[in-house]
Amino acid sequence: MESKKLDKFAIAAALQEISALLELKGGDNRFKARAYQTGARAVAAIAGDIGRALSENRLTSVPGIGNALASQIRQLHLTGTSSVLDKLKEEFPPGIIELSRVPGLSTTKVAKLHEALGVTSIAELQAAAAAGKVRDVPGFGAKTEQGLLEAIADHERDHKKQKRLHLHYAERVAEQVLSYLRTSRDLEEVSIAGSLRRGQETVGTIRLVASSKNPAAVVKHLLRFPLIIKVAEQSESSCTVDLAEAAKVSLRAVKPNEFGLALFWETGSEAHLTKINDIANRKGLALDRESLKLTIKMNSKSLQSRKKPLQIRNEAEIYPLLGMQYVTPELREDAGEIEAALKKTLPAELITLSDIKGMIHCHTTYSDGKHSVAEMARAAEAMGMKYLTITDHSPTAFYAGGLKLDRLKRQWEEIDETQEQVKIKLLKGTESDILSDGSLDYPDDVLERFDVVIASIHSRYKMDAEKMTKCLITAMRQPVFKIWGHALGRLIQRRPPFACDVERVLDVIAESRAAIEVNGDPYRLDMEPRWIREARKRKIKFVISVDAHSMGAMNNLKYGVAQARRGWLQRSEVLNALPLAKFRQAVRPA
Ligand SMILES: [Zn+2]
Ligand SMILES: [Zn+2]
Repeated sequence: MESKKLDKFAIAAALQEISALLELKGGDNRFKARAYQTGARAVAAIAGDIGRALSENRLTSVPGIGNALASQIRQLHLTGTSSVLDKLKEEFPPGIIELSRVPGLSTTKVAKLHEALGVTSIAELQAAAAAGKVRDVPGFGAKTEQGLLEAIADHERDHKKQKRLHLHYAERVAEQVLSYLRTSRDLEEVSIAGSLRRGQETVGTIRLVASSKNPAAVVKHLLRFPLIIKVAEQSESSCTVDLAEAAKVSLRAVKPNEFGLALFWETGSEAHLTKINDIANRKGLALDRESLKLTIKMNSKSLQSRKKPLQIRNEAEIYPLLGMQYVTPELREDAGEIEAALKKTLPAELITLSDIKGMIHCHTTYSDGKHSVAEMARAAEAMGMKYLTITDHSPTAFYAGGLKLDRLKRQWEEIDETQEQVKIKLLKGTESDILSDGSLDYPDDVLERFDVVIASIHSRYKMDAEKMTKCLITAMRQPVFKIWGHALGRLIQRRPPFACDVERVLDVIAESRAAIEVNGDPYRLDMEPRWIREARKRKIKFVISVDAHSMGAMNNLKYGVAQARRGWLQRSEVLNALPLAKFRQAVRPA
């Protein structure tokens, strides 16, 4: 028998379909639905070939894939179908997943509409309703038909204003799409562009730019990506698609010699592009967005002597041509970077991931972390770190298992024991609550014995601005050296920064024994770039932290670094880019 082998993306798509159908069945099936959803994500993220993972029996060792799921994956890979999916499909009419997204349209109603009119998509239903055919279906009528049209319009509107994706999630989806695109024989080069390339906190559309001698073939290849649920726009050289789980992806495919300009335009931001384009125009150049050509205008005296047309192969060539420094993507926000690049005063050594020597702000099982001191130590060591600060919560954070003195003593003993088994230097720290009067959460003689103190606000987010400012100022003036943790307490898309006079607090920090954290947790990313830049003016130092409650969360480091770069931080301004001895000296509490 000829076998129809599915790749990992096609398998993931089938698992997602199973999940969606189980969700529609409702009740207890919802739990199973979630398991299939997790499985789909895990399969798409498997490195390399799925056939290999299957033959080596590695599948059930992947987190999120149990025995039942592994057997469906094996079936899908070998036969192209799954017994579970086939059975579910028999229970529902075609197009049910899409159609059931229309508010008020039950599965029974979809079945009736399918039987009478053969509709299998929202677009077909909309056309049928607009043509007045739905009112004749038994049980529907003119009023229901009108209601359906309105519900479809509402649904489309909601879809357009959907929430933006968190940075780490957008990155994971982008990696999946990239690894799929790289299986195209026609692809030469591909890059992430848009807000994701600029390291923004949230991403609306995941933008990609690809180059190929045959751009249309690359677009076609993406359109066959099995996780697509809707193609919103398409042309020979570009497409925009919706993926399951609310991700939107757009691809622009160009000829190899157009790649540099295409990447520039697709990276944005709009404000940055507009200003750069104005500068180009003044110099007699046109960076054409549509044709992707760099042309010299007739009125340009300085450049007319050139015989050959200018070619931009690499995006980095654009800026010097305009007489300015290269502007790294994280800085392209029209926040002063263009003026600085023209004056050649951009920060010379922006912090990079490889500059970081110490993993800062880590929780363990002593408070609300998932892993032990030893596990956290080994994970940080494996990432090449030279030191790790263990900073569990202080007693006032009782809901997070804050450490009273006896537990703190036990933790220090455990840190000493672990230290004998690992090379990485373990530093004893605390994430001390800032109390309402601005004091810290341990007596001074205890605080002074830590290697490092992070001071954070964990409650009273609604305190009035004047009180909060006073509280923070008192805290920052405490005699011990402290790092201001997740400064303004925001949770991205969930909780705004609390109100306080940030500039006044920064003024106090500048003359106190204190530094500020750039928190790499993708839900926090606190402080914001504009405040980092304000702090830089006052020569305040920073640490880039992970706020890790598990080993896996140490990956937050790259988001922290991206956020720091958006705030123009240089290596010399980041304390955990220092070697161990200098770092200890810089943050020593007493
Ligand atoms: Zn905290
Ligand atoms: Zn924390």
